[in-house]
Amino acid sequence: LYNQVQDLKGNIRVFCRVRPFHPDQIGNRSTIDYIGEDGSIVIANPLKVGKDQRKSFTFNRVFNPSAAQEEVFLDTQPLIRSVLDGFNVCIFAYGQTGSGKTHTMTGPNNPSPSDWGVNLRALNDLFHISQSRKDHMTYGIGVQMIEIYNEQVKDLLSTDGSNKRLEIRNNSQQNGLNVPDASMMSVNCTQDVLDLMSLGHKNRAVGSTALNERSSRSHSVLTVHVKGIDQVSGAILRGCLHLVDLAGSERVDKSEATGDRLKEAQHINKSLSALGDVIAALAQKNSHVPYRNSKLTQLLQGSLGGQAKTLMFVHISPDEESYSETLSTLKFAERVASV
Ligand code: ADP
Ligand code: MG
Repeated sequence: LYNQVQDLKGNIRVFCRVRPFHPDQIGNRSTIDYIGEDGSIVIANPLKVGKDQRKSFTFNRVFNPSAAQEEVFLDTQPLIRSVLDGFNVCIFAYGQTGSGKTHTMTGPNNPSPSDWGVNLRALNDLFHISQSRKDHMTYGIGVQMIEIYNEQVKDLLSTDGSNKRLEIRNNSQQNGLNVPDASMMSVNCTQDVLDLMSLGHKNRAVGSTALNERSSRSHSVLTVHVKGIDQVSGAILRGCLHLVDLAGSERVDKSEATGDRLKEAQHINKSLSALGDVIAALAQKNSHVPYRNSKLTQLLQGSLGGQAKTLMFVHISPDEESYSETLSTLKFAERVASV
């Protein structure tokens, strides 16, 4: 049923979320000219006047800066619930560093429930619905958490501090796992999830780079595996939810970046364009979908396309200094939105 409702809206949707000004920026001029109830947004170039100044875009929804976490989640909820009926779902957070990706997906550090991001709300919802079906369905929920940095896959839930590179397999294997060597943790309640998230957070920060820098240059993927057994027929269904906090989409000035920074930037660029190409090919119903061009799209191949559902949250910052990144983010989003 959840899925029937979803079908009416297609398999790919794009939500745009505008970050509020930071407290010390309040009073600054915004590049956001208009946000409509119908998913439209108009931005204004601070360096231009006249008819070329404004550009308009339309998405499935646009959340204005005052939108609360709860409101953002409400429109995501039906998608999450389809996972319990055996569907695969990918939710992405895209945008330049500082635009609010982690805020949407995770929320602040040690969040109070009202600050919870999509990932905690999603798991909580899955726990509740699976409970409410417990007299006819038995559900098991497990999570994996990995990081993709410089096209290498790392387990974020390892407890032995091992730092080995993981391989991606195609998910035709029996258990349906495409990173079979990444730790899989069974979860039953919100506290289990909070504990794993703090483990993941800790594992991510290892190494010389500070966590914020590292997280802006790598993709993190929280995968929720759901297995349901029908108590009468014995039929088994599996669904999978990928919650992806992408690396920052900002362009790096080629004249300034050298060495490691340049290499990171090239990997990020390549994987974000590969993702854009895949989603755009799916949105346009192309017969060839170029999954092989990045680790991220290889990993998600079984959950992008076909019956699977995709939600892209694109994040923008309202400040004038971010205008050119805002414009390129909205162009990326426009390309992946189904027509
Ligand atoms: P990103 O992950 O894209 O680099 P963050 O999510 O870390 O960006 O956001 C940058 C800063 O802005 C953080 O301090 C975050 O708490 C704040 N922020 C982002 N989005 C919002 C929002 N919608 N409401 C309030 N604060 C936000
Ligand atoms: Mg972040």
